[in-house]
Amino acid sequence: MGVLWFGGKIKTLLTEDSEVEAVYIVGDKIIATGAKDQLMHQYQPDTLMDLEGAVMFPGFVDSHLHLIGHGEKLIRLDLSTLTSSKEIIEALKMRVSEIKHGEWVIGEGWNENQLSDKKIFHAKELDEIAPNNPLILHRICRHAIVANSMALDLAGITSDTKDPAGGVIVRDQEGEPTGYLLDQAQELVKQVIPKVTTDYLEKALRASIQDCHKLGLVGGHSEDLNYYGGFTRTYQTFKNIINKQGLHFKANLLVHHEVVEDMHNQGLGVGHVNGGIEIGAMKIFADGALGGRTALLSQPYQDDPTTSGVANYSEEQLTELVKKARSFNMPVAIHAIGDLAFEYVLNAIELYPPALGQRDRLIHAQILRKDLIERVKKLPVVLDIQPRFVATDFPWVVERLGVERIEYCYAWKTLLNEGIPCSGGSDAPIEPVDPILGIHAAITRANPNEPTITYYPEQALSTFDAIQLFTSGSAFAIQREHERGKIAVGYDADFTILDQDLLTVTPEQILNTNVIMTVVNGEIVYKRKEPIPL
Ligand SMILES: [Zn+2]
Repeated sequence: MGVLWFGGKIKTLLTEDSEVEAVYIVGDKIIATGAKDQLMHQYQPDTLMDLEGAVMFPGFVDSHLHLIGHGEKLIRLDLSTLTSSKEIIEALKMRVSEIKHGEWVIGEGWNENQLSDKKIFHAKELDEIAPNNPLILHRICRHAIVANSMALDLAGITSDTKDPAGGVIVRDQEGEPTGYLLDQAQELVKQVIPKVTTDYLEKALRASIQDCHKLGLVGGHSEDLNYYGGFTRTYQTFKNIINKQGLHFKANLLVHHEVVEDMHNQGLGVGHVNGGIEIGAMKIFADGALGGRTALLSQPYQDDPTTSGVANYSEEQLTELVKKARSFNMPVAIHAIGDLAFEYVLNAIELYPPALGQRDRLIHAQILRKDLIERVKKLPVVLDIQPRFVATDFPWVVERLGVERIEYCYAWKTLLNEGIPCSGGSDAPIEPVDPILGIHAAITRANPNEPTITYYPEQALSTFDAIQLFTSGSAFAIQREHERGKIAVGYDADFTILDQDLLTVTPEQILNTNVIMTVVNGEIVYKRKEPIPL
Protein backbone atom coordinates (compact mmCIF):
# COMPACT_ATOMS: atom_id res chain seq x y z
CA MET A 1 0.00 0.00 0.00
CA GLY A 2 2.87 2.41 0.67
CA VAL A 3 5.68 4.06 -1.26
CA LEU A 4 9.26 2.86 -1.50
CA TRP A 5 11.94 5.50 -2.05
CA PHE A 6 15.30 4.17 -3.32
CA GLY A 7 17.89 4.62 -6.03
CA GLY A 8 20.01 7.36 -4.47
CA LYS A 9 21.83 8.22 -1.31
CA ILE A 10 19.52 8.40 1.68
CA LYS A 11 21.16 10.29 4.53
CA THR A 12 19.32 9.50 7.74
CA LEU A 13 21.34 11.98 9.84
CA LEU A 14 21.22 9.50 12.72
CA THR A 15 25.00 9.86 12.59
CA GLU A 16 27.22 11.84 10.27
CA ASP A 17 27.69 9.03 7.77
CA SER A 18 24.67 6.82 8.25
CA GLU A 19 22.93 5.99 5.01
CA VAL A 20 20.24 3.54 4.01
CA GLU A 21 19.36 2.09 0.64
CA ALA A 22 15.62 2.59 0.84
CA VAL A 23 12.81 4.13 2.86
CA TYR A 24 9.30 2.75 2.99
CA ILE A 25 6.51 5.17 3.88
CA VAL A 26 2.78 4.88 4.33
CA GLY A 27 0.88 8.15 4.21
CA ASP A 28 2.83 10.74 6.17
CA LYS A 29 5.01 8.37 8.23
CA ILE A 30 8.20 6.40 7.74
CA ILE A 31 7.43 2.72 8.35
CA ALA A 32 10.82 1.16 7.66
CA THR A 33 14.32 1.89 6.40
CA GLY A 34 16.92 -0.56 5.13
CA ALA A 35 17.92 -2.62 2.11
CA LYS A 36 15.74 -2.17 -0.95
CA ASP A 37 15.23 -5.87 -1.71
CA GLN A 38 14.26 -6.67 1.80
CA LEU A 39 11.75 -3.81 2.06
CA MET A 40 10.30 -4.74 -1.36
CA HIS A 41 9.79 -8.30 -0.21
CA GLN A 42 8.47 -7.44 3.21
CA TYR A 43 6.02 -4.66 2.29
CA GLN A 44 5.27 -5.08 -1.42
CA PRO A 45 4.87 -1.33 -1.92
CA ASP A 46 2.43 -0.22 -4.60
CA THR A 47 4.46 2.83 -5.61
CA LEU A 48 8.17 2.93 -6.38
CA MET A 49 10.03 6.24 -6.29
CA ASP A 50 13.45 6.10 -7.90
CA LEU A 51 15.71 8.91 -6.69
CA GLU A 52 17.82 8.47 -9.85
CA GLY A 53 21.00 9.17 -8.01
CA ALA A 54 19.74 12.16 -6.01
CA VAL A 55 20.46 12.60 -2.32
CA MET A 56 17.65 12.50 0.23
CA PHE A 57 17.86 14.30 3.57
CA PRO A 58 15.30 14.70 6.34
CA GLY A 59 13.17 17.73 5.44
CA PHE A 60 14.81 21.07 6.12
CA VAL A 61 12.87 23.40 8.43
CA ASP A 62 13.58 27.09 8.99
CA SER A 63 13.37 27.68 12.74
CA HIS A 64 12.74 31.40 12.55
CA LEU A 65 11.17 33.35 9.75
CA HIS A 66 8.21 35.53 8.88
CA LEU A 67 6.35 33.69 6.15
CA ILE A 68 3.95 36.46 5.19
CA GLY A 69 6.72 39.06 5.37
CA HIS A 70 8.79 36.90 3.06
CA GLY A 71 5.85 36.62 0.69
CA GLU A 72 5.38 40.38 0.77
CA LYS A 73 8.97 40.78 -0.28
CA LEU A 74 8.26 38.48 -3.21
CA ILE A 75 5.11 40.32 -4.31
CA ARG A 76 6.13 43.87 -3.34
CA LEU A 77 8.93 46.19 -4.35
CA ASP A 78 12.08 44.34 -3.31
CA LEU A 79 15.07 46.64 -2.71
CA SER A 80 17.26 44.06 -0.98
CA THR A 81 19.44 43.25 -3.97
CA LEU A 82 20.09 46.85 -5.06
CA THR A 83 23.59 48.16 -4.52
CA SER A 84 23.36 51.90 -5.16
CA SER A 85 20.98 54.66 -4.14
CA LYS A 86 20.58 55.46 -7.82
CA GLU A 87 19.12 51.99 -8.43
CA ILE A 88 16.71 52.50 -5.55
CA ILE A 89 15.59 55.87 -6.93
CA GLU A 90 14.97 54.32 -10.32
CA ALA A 91 12.99 51.41 -8.86
CA LEU A 92 10.87 53.81 -6.81
CA LYS A 93 10.22 56.17 -9.72
CA MET A 94 9.10 53.23 -11.79
CA ARG A 95 6.67 52.09 -9.09
CA VAL A 96 5.32 55.62 -8.56
CA SER A 97 4.65 55.95 -12.29
CA GLU A 98 2.50 52.81 -12.15
CA ILE A 99 0.12 53.88 -9.38
CA LYS A 100 -2.46 56.55 -8.64
CA HIS A 101 -1.85 59.69 -6.56
CA GLY A 102 -2.40 59.01 -2.87
CA GLU A 103 -1.67 55.28 -3.08
CA TRP A 104 0.99 54.01 -0.69
CA VAL A 105 4.40 53.01 -1.97
CA ILE A 106 6.01 50.38 0.24
CA GLY A 107 9.51 49.17 -0.49
CA GLU A 108 11.22 46.27 1.25
CA GLY A 109 14.71 45.51 2.34
CA TRP A 110 17.05 48.47 1.75
CA ASN A 111 20.42 48.19 3.45
CA GLU A 112 22.72 51.18 3.41
CA ASN A 113 25.72 48.96 4.18
CA GLN A 114 25.19 47.39 0.80
CA LEU A 115 24.96 50.69 -1.09
CA SER A 116 28.10 52.10 -2.63
CA ASP A 117 27.36 55.52 -1.05
CA LYS A 118 25.96 54.10 2.26
CA LYS A 119 22.98 56.39 1.80
CA ILE A 120 20.05 56.58 4.19
CA PHE A 121 17.36 58.52 2.35
CA HIS A 122 15.99 61.75 3.82
CA ALA A 123 12.26 62.44 3.68
CA LYS A 124 12.90 65.41 1.39
CA GLU A 125 14.77 63.25 -1.11
CA LEU A 126 11.90 60.78 -1.11
CA ASP A 127 9.48 63.68 -1.69
CA GLU A 128 11.22 64.39 -4.95
CA ILE A 129 10.58 60.82 -6.06
CA ALA A 130 7.03 60.61 -4.72
CA PRO A 131 5.54 64.08 -4.22
CA ASN A 132 1.94 62.81 -4.40
CA ASN A 133 2.15 59.43 -2.70
CA PRO A 134 2.88 58.45 0.88
CA LEU A 135 6.00 56.29 0.78
CA ILE A 136 7.88 54.13 3.26
CA LEU A 137 10.85 51.87 2.80
CA HIS A 138 11.51 49.07 5.26
CA ARG A 139 15.13 48.61 6.21
CA ILE A 140 16.34 45.04 5.72
CA CYS A 141 16.25 44.42 9.50
CA ARG A 142 12.61 45.56 9.72
CA HIS A 143 13.57 47.59 12.78
CA ALA A 144 13.63 50.87 10.86
CA ILE A 145 11.88 52.64 8.02
CA VAL A 146 12.40 55.82 6.07
CA ALA A 147 9.24 57.75 5.22
CA ASN A 148 8.54 60.71 2.95
CA SER A 149 6.81 63.89 4.11
CA MET A 150 3.34 62.79 3.03
CA ALA A 151 3.66 59.61 5.12
CA LEU A 152 4.95 61.65 8.09
CA ASP A 153 2.05 64.10 7.70
CA LEU A 154 -0.55 61.32 7.60
CA ALA A 155 1.01 59.90 10.76
CA GLY A 156 0.96 63.33 12.38
CA ILE A 157 4.72 63.28 13.00
CA THR A 158 6.15 66.79 13.44
CA SER A 159 9.05 68.32 15.29
CA ASP A 160 6.77 68.41 18.36
CA THR A 161 6.13 64.65 18.35
CA LYS A 162 7.88 62.91 21.23
CA ASP A 163 9.76 59.65 20.70
CA PRO A 164 7.40 56.79 21.55
CA ALA A 165 8.52 54.23 24.17
CA GLY A 166 10.99 51.85 22.56
CA GLY A 167 11.39 53.98 19.45
CA VAL A 168 13.33 56.89 18.00
CA ILE A 169 12.24 59.59 15.57
CA VAL A 170 15.55 60.61 14.05
CA ARG A 171 15.82 64.40 13.74
CA ASP A 172 18.12 66.89 12.07
CA GLN A 173 19.95 69.67 13.90
CA GLU A 174 16.85 71.88 13.87
CA GLY A 175 14.85 69.10 15.48
CA GLU A 176 12.90 68.33 12.29
CA PRO A 177 12.15 64.63 11.67
CA THR A 178 14.33 63.31 8.84
CA GLY A 179 11.90 60.53 7.99
CA TYR A 180 14.13 57.85 9.57
CA LEU A 181 12.07 56.04 12.21
CA LEU A 182 13.50 53.37 14.47
CA ASP A 183 11.70 50.44 16.12
CA GLN A 184 8.45 51.49 17.82
CA ALA A 185 8.50 54.85 16.02
CA GLN A 186 7.74 52.92 12.82
CA GLU A 187 4.33 52.06 14.24
CA LEU A 188 3.26 55.72 14.13
CA VAL A 189 3.31 55.48 10.35
CA LYS A 190 2.37 51.83 9.97
CA GLN A 191 -0.89 52.35 11.85
CA VAL A 192 -2.14 54.82 9.25
CA ILE A 193 -1.44 52.54 6.29
CA PRO A 194 -4.73 51.06 5.04
CA LYS A 195 -5.17 47.44 6.15
CA VAL A 196 -4.16 44.81 3.66
CA THR A 197 -6.91 42.75 2.09
CA THR A 198 -7.42 39.04 2.77
CA ASP A 199 -6.67 38.46 -0.86
CA TYR A 200 -3.31 40.18 -0.51
CA LEU A 201 -2.45 38.12 2.58
CA GLU A 202 -3.27 34.87 0.83
CA LYS A 203 -1.27 35.89 -2.20
CA ALA A 204 1.73 36.70 -0.02
CA LEU A 205 1.55 33.47 1.98
CA ARG A 206 1.07 31.36 -1.12
CA ALA A 207 4.08 32.96 -2.82
CA SER A 208 6.11 32.47 0.33
CA ILE A 209 5.35 28.79 0.82
CA GLN A 210 5.87 28.04 -2.85
CA ASP A 211 9.27 29.71 -2.64
CA CYS A 212 10.11 27.66 0.47
CA HIS A 213 9.15 24.46 -1.32
CA LYS A 214 11.36 25.37 -4.24
CA LEU A 215 14.27 25.83 -1.87
CA GLY A 216 13.74 22.50 -0.15
CA LEU A 217 11.99 23.68 2.99
CA VAL A 218 9.25 21.43 4.36
CA GLY A 219 8.37 23.73 7.22
CA GLY A 220 9.10 26.85 9.18
CA HIS A 221 8.54 28.43 12.57
CA SER A 222 6.92 31.69 11.63
CA GLU A 223 5.94 34.88 13.38
CA ASP A 224 3.17 36.81 11.62
CA LEU A 225 0.02 36.86 13.74
CA ASN A 226 0.13 40.43 15.04
CA TYR A 227 0.71 42.49 11.93
CA TYR A 228 -2.05 41.97 9.43
CA GLY A 229 -5.31 42.96 11.02
CA GLY A 230 -5.39 40.66 13.99
CA PHE A 231 -4.92 37.07 15.05
CA THR A 232 -8.13 35.63 13.63
CA ARG A 233 -7.67 36.95 10.14
CA THR A 234 -4.03 35.96 9.88
CA TYR A 235 -4.57 32.52 11.40
CA GLN A 236 -7.45 32.03 8.96
CA THR A 237 -5.10 32.87 6.10
CA PHE A 238 -2.76 30.08 7.20
CA LYS A 239 -5.67 27.65 7.45
CA ASN A 240 -6.90 28.64 3.99
CA ILE A 241 -3.57 28.27 2.25
CA ILE A 242 -2.07 25.29 4.05
CA ASN A 243 -5.12 23.22 4.94
CA LYS A 244 -7.91 24.20 2.53
CA GLN A 245 -5.84 24.91 -0.55
CA GLY A 246 -3.48 22.07 0.33
CA LEU A 247 -0.14 23.84 0.12
CA HIS A 248 1.43 21.35 2.52
CA PHE A 249 3.89 22.94 4.89
CA LYS A 250 4.71 22.36 8.56
CA ALA A 251 4.06 25.78 10.05
CA ASN A 252 4.70 26.39 13.73
CA LEU A 253 3.25 29.80 14.50
CA LEU A 254 4.70 31.97 17.23
CA VAL A 255 2.01 34.04 18.92
CA HIS A 256 2.92 37.67 19.61
CA HIS A 257 2.05 38.55 23.21
CA GLU A 258 -0.40 41.21 22.04
CA VAL A 259 -2.61 38.59 20.40
CA VAL A 260 -2.31 35.81 22.97
CA GLU A 261 -5.74 36.63 24.43
CA ASP A 262 -7.31 36.44 20.97
CA MET A 263 -5.70 33.05 20.47
CA HIS A 264 -6.88 31.86 23.88
CA ASN A 265 -10.44 33.08 23.27
CA GLN A 266 -10.62 30.75 20.29
CA GLY A 267 -9.81 27.82 22.52
CA LEU A 268 -6.28 27.53 21.17
CA GLY A 269 -3.03 27.05 23.04
CA VAL A 270 0.55 25.97 22.53
CA GLY A 271 0.84 22.60 20.79
CA HIS A 272 -2.63 22.86 19.23
CA VAL A 273 -2.48 21.28 15.79
CA ASN A 274 -4.81 22.11 12.90
CA GLY A 275 -3.72 20.23 9.78
CA GLY A 276 -0.25 21.50 8.93
CA ILE A 277 -0.42 24.36 11.42
CA GLU A 278 0.69 24.25 15.01
CA ILE A 279 0.52 26.93 17.70
CA GLY A 280 3.97 27.71 19.07
CA ALA A 281 5.51 29.82 21.81
CA MET A 282 4.63 33.39 22.84
CA LYS A 283 6.73 35.94 20.97
CA ILE A 284 8.28 38.97 22.69
CA PHE A 285 10.78 41.50 21.34
CA ALA A 286 13.25 42.41 24.08
CA ASP A 287 15.32 44.80 21.96
CA GLY A 288 15.92 46.13 18.47
CA ALA A 289 18.68 45.32 16.00
CA LEU A 290 22.27 46.18 15.21
CA GLY A 291 21.67 48.03 11.94
CA GLY A 292 20.00 51.00 13.66
CA ARG A 293 22.01 50.48 16.90
CA THR A 294 18.87 49.53 18.80
CA ALA A 295 20.10 46.13 20.01
CA LEU A 296 20.46 46.55 23.77
CA LEU A 297 24.08 46.27 24.90
CA SER A 298 25.60 46.29 28.36
CA GLN A 299 28.35 48.63 27.09
CA PRO A 300 27.88 51.49 24.58
CA TYR A 301 28.34 50.96 20.88
CA GLN A 302 31.94 51.39 19.93
CA ASP A 303 31.08 53.43 16.84
CA ASP A 304 28.58 55.60 18.72
CA PRO A 305 29.38 55.82 22.44
CA THR A 306 26.29 57.98 23.05
CA THR A 307 24.04 54.91 22.87
CA SER A 308 23.80 51.36 24.22
CA GLY A 309 20.68 50.56 22.26
CA VAL A 310 16.99 50.48 23.10
CA ALA A 311 15.12 48.25 25.54
CA ASN A 312 11.65 47.59 24.16
CA TYR A 313 10.48 47.01 27.73
CA SER A 314 11.81 47.78 31.17
CA GLU A 315 13.11 44.71 32.93
CA GLU A 316 9.97 44.67 35.08
CA GLN A 317 7.69 44.83 32.04
CA LEU A 318 9.64 42.06 30.34
CA THR A 319 9.32 39.90 33.43
CA GLU A 320 5.58 40.57 33.47
CA LEU A 321 5.34 39.41 29.86
CA VAL A 322 7.13 36.15 30.66
CA LYS A 323 4.78 35.71 33.60
CA LYS A 324 1.88 36.31 31.22
CA ALA A 325 3.11 33.50 28.95
CA ARG A 326 3.23 31.15 31.92
CA SER A 327 -0.34 32.10 32.85
CA PHE A 328 -1.32 30.77 29.41
CA ASN A 329 0.93 27.73 29.96
CA MET A 330 3.17 28.85 27.10
CA PRO A 331 6.90 28.81 26.53
CA VAL A 332 8.33 32.09 25.31
CA ALA A 333 10.21 32.91 22.10
CA ILE A 334 12.09 36.12 22.76
CA HIS A 335 13.98 38.24 20.27
CA ALA A 336 17.19 39.25 22.06
CA ILE A 337 20.16 40.47 20.04
CA GLY A 338 22.19 42.51 22.52
CA ASP A 339 23.80 41.00 25.61
CA LEU A 340 21.86 43.21 28.02
CA ALA A 341 18.55 42.21 26.42
CA PHE A 342 19.66 38.59 26.73
CA GLU A 343 20.53 39.11 30.37
CA TYR A 344 17.10 40.61 31.12
CA VAL A 345 15.48 37.65 29.40
CA LEU A 346 17.48 35.13 31.45
CA ASN A 347 16.55 36.96 34.65
CA ALA A 348 12.88 36.73 33.74
CA ILE A 349 13.02 33.07 32.70
CA GLU A 350 14.92 32.09 35.84
CA LEU A 351 12.23 33.79 37.90
CA TYR A 352 9.35 32.29 35.91
CA PRO A 353 10.54 29.04 34.33
CA PRO A 354 8.38 27.24 31.74
CA ALA A 355 6.19 24.26 32.63
CA LEU A 356 8.02 20.97 32.96
CA GLY A 357 8.90 19.59 29.53
CA GLN A 358 8.48 22.94 27.74
CA ARG A 359 11.38 24.75 26.08
CA ASP A 360 11.81 28.47 25.75
CA ARG A 361 13.43 29.93 22.66
CA LEU A 362 15.80 32.85 22.56
CA ILE A 363 15.92 34.22 19.06
CA HIS A 364 19.16 35.54 17.52
CA ALA A 365 21.53 35.29 20.54
CA GLN A 366 24.11 37.21 18.55
CA ILE A 367 25.91 39.09 21.27
CA LEU A 368 26.58 37.07 24.40
CA ARG A 369 29.07 36.88 27.23
CA LYS A 370 30.72 34.00 29.00
CA ASP A 371 28.56 34.45 32.11
CA LEU A 372 25.39 34.44 30.01
CA ILE A 373 26.44 31.23 28.28
CA GLU A 374 27.04 29.59 31.66
CA ARG A 375 23.55 30.58 32.77
CA VAL A 376 21.74 29.58 29.60
CA LYS A 377 23.30 26.10 29.78
CA LYS A 378 21.31 25.40 32.93
CA LEU A 379 17.94 26.37 31.44
CA PRO A 380 15.50 24.50 29.18
CA VAL A 381 16.24 26.91 26.35
CA VAL A 382 16.87 26.60 22.62
CA LEU A 383 18.79 29.30 20.78
CA ASP A 384 17.32 30.12 17.37
CA ILE A 385 20.35 31.27 15.42
CA GLN A 386 20.62 32.63 11.89
CA PRO A 387 24.05 31.65 10.53
CA ARG A 388 23.51 33.84 7.47
CA PHE A 389 23.84 36.96 9.64
CA VAL A 390 27.59 36.29 9.59
CA ALA A 391 27.63 36.81 5.83
CA THR A 392 25.61 40.01 6.07
CA ASP A 393 26.83 41.68 9.28
CA PHE A 394 30.58 41.26 8.96
CA PRO A 395 32.78 43.22 8.73
CA TRP A 396 30.75 46.30 9.82
CA VAL A 397 29.53 44.66 13.02
CA VAL A 398 33.10 44.52 14.35
CA GLU A 399 33.33 48.31 14.13
CA ARG A 400 29.99 48.61 15.82
CA LEU A 401 30.83 46.34 18.74
CA GLY A 402 34.61 46.54 19.04
CA VAL A 403 36.94 43.54 18.94
CA GLU A 404 37.02 43.06 22.73
CA ARG A 405 33.53 41.62 22.95
CA ILE A 406 33.52 39.79 19.60
CA GLU A 407 34.67 36.49 21.14
CA TYR A 408 31.11 35.67 22.21
CA CYS A 409 29.38 37.25 19.22
CA TYR A 410 27.91 35.04 16.46
CA ALA A 411 29.79 32.34 18.35
CA TRP A 412 27.86 29.36 17.00
CA LYS A 413 30.64 26.83 17.56
CA THR A 414 31.07 27.90 21.17
CA LEU A 415 27.33 27.48 21.74
CA LEU A 416 27.35 23.95 20.34
CA ASN A 417 30.54 23.04 22.21
CA GLU A 418 28.87 24.15 25.42
CA GLY A 419 26.02 21.74 24.68
CA ILE A 420 23.39 24.43 24.17
CA PRO A 421 20.66 23.25 21.78
CA CYS A 422 20.54 25.46 18.69
CA SER A 423 18.24 25.57 15.70
CA GLY A 424 18.85 27.26 12.37
CA GLY A 425 16.77 29.79 10.53
CA SER A 426 16.94 32.71 8.15
CA ASP A 427 14.71 35.33 9.76
CA ALA A 428 13.41 35.84 6.23
CA PRO A 429 12.59 38.36 4.84
CA ILE A 430 15.64 39.74 6.62
CA GLU A 431 17.99 37.13 5.17
CA PRO A 432 17.33 35.01 2.10
CA VAL A 433 15.15 32.04 3.03
CA ASP A 434 17.39 29.54 1.18
CA PRO A 435 18.65 27.04 3.79
CA ILE A 436 21.64 26.21 1.61
CA LEU A 437 22.86 29.79 2.15
CA GLY A 438 22.42 29.41 5.90
CA ILE A 439 24.32 26.13 5.92
CA HIS A 440 27.05 27.62 3.75
CA ALA A 441 27.46 30.61 6.07
CA ALA A 442 27.62 28.36 9.15
CA ILE A 443 30.40 26.28 7.59
CA THR A 444 32.43 28.95 5.83
CA ARG A 445 31.79 32.08 7.96
CA ALA A 446 32.01 33.93 4.65
CA ASN A 447 29.86 35.91 2.28
CA PRO A 448 29.50 34.15 -1.09
CA ASN A 449 30.44 37.45 -2.76
CA GLU A 450 33.79 37.52 -0.95
CA PRO A 451 34.47 33.84 -0.42
CA THR A 452 38.10 34.30 0.57
CA ILE A 453 37.35 36.36 3.68
CA THR A 454 36.50 34.18 6.66
CA TYR A 455 35.15 35.85 9.79
CA TYR A 456 36.33 34.14 12.97
CA PRO A 457 36.98 30.71 11.45
CA GLU A 458 37.25 29.14 14.91
CA GLN A 459 33.46 29.54 15.08
CA ALA A 460 32.85 27.62 11.84
CA LEU A 461 30.61 24.56 12.14
CA SER A 462 31.07 21.16 10.56
CA THR A 463 28.70 20.47 7.68
CA PHE A 464 26.91 17.85 9.77
CA ASP A 465 26.32 20.32 12.61
CA ALA A 466 25.18 22.98 10.16
CA ILE A 467 22.62 20.66 8.53
CA GLN A 468 21.40 19.54 11.93
CA LEU A 469 20.53 23.12 12.81
CA PHE A 470 17.93 23.00 10.04
CA THR A 471 16.70 19.45 10.74
CA SER A 472 16.88 17.95 14.23
CA GLY A 473 17.62 21.41 15.68
CA SER A 474 14.37 22.86 14.37
CA ALA A 475 12.50 19.74 15.55
CA PHE A 476 13.98 20.01 19.05
CA ALA A 477 12.91 23.67 19.35
CA ILE A 478 9.26 22.58 19.22
CA GLN A 479 9.66 19.27 21.09
CA ARG A 480 9.24 17.20 17.94
CA GLU A 481 12.69 15.64 18.00
CA HIS A 482 11.26 12.13 18.21
CA GLU A 483 9.24 12.49 15.01
CA ARG A 484 11.02 15.04 12.81
CA GLY A 485 14.52 15.90 11.67
CA LYS A 486 15.78 12.39 10.93
CA ILE A 487 14.98 9.57 8.55
CA ALA A 488 13.97 6.77 10.89
CA VAL A 489 11.03 4.54 11.73
CA GLY A 490 8.09 6.49 13.11
CA TYR A 491 9.36 9.82 11.83
CA ASP A 492 7.42 12.10 9.50
CA ALA A 493 7.86 11.47 5.78
CA ASP A 494 9.31 14.93 5.12
CA PHE A 495 12.27 14.96 2.75
CA THR A 496 14.58 17.43 1.08
CA ILE A 497 16.07 15.84 -2.02
CA LEU A 498 19.17 17.45 -3.52
CA ASP A 499 21.42 16.81 -6.49
CA GLN A 500 24.53 16.41 -4.38
CA ASP A 501 25.61 15.19 -0.96
CA LEU A 502 26.25 18.26 1.18
CA LEU A 503 28.28 16.09 3.56
CA THR A 504 30.90 15.10 0.99
CA VAL A 505 31.26 18.13 -1.30
CA THR A 506 33.58 21.01 -0.39
CA PRO A 507 32.06 24.01 1.40
CA GLU A 508 32.42 26.11 -1.76
CA GLN A 509 30.54 23.53 -3.82
CA ILE A 510 27.59 23.65 -1.44
CA LEU A 511 26.41 26.84 -3.15
CA ASN A 512 25.94 24.87 -6.38
CA THR A 513 23.33 22.61 -4.81
CA ASN A 514 20.03 22.19 -6.64
CA VAL A 515 16.81 21.05 -5.02
CA ILE A 516 15.38 18.10 -6.95
CA MET A 517 12.28 17.49 -4.87
CA THR A 518 10.61 18.58 -1.66
CA VAL A 519 8.34 16.09 0.09
CA VAL A 520 5.94 16.99 2.91
CA ASN A 521 3.87 14.28 4.63
CA GLY A 522 4.85 11.85 1.90
CA GLU A 523 3.56 14.15 -0.86
CA ILE A 524 5.78 15.79 -3.44
CA VAL A 525 5.19 19.53 -3.08
CA TYR A 526 7.98 20.59 -5.43
CA LYS A 527 9.71 18.84 -8.29
CA ARG A 528 12.46 20.44 -10.31
CA LYS A 529 11.47 20.81 -13.94
CA GLU A 530 14.47 22.49 -15.51
CA PRO A 531 17.50 20.37 -16.29
CA ILE A 532 20.46 20.88 -13.95
CA PRO A 533 22.88 23.39 -15.50
CA LEU A 534 26.28 21.89 -16.20
ZN1 LIG B 1 12.33 37.73 13.23
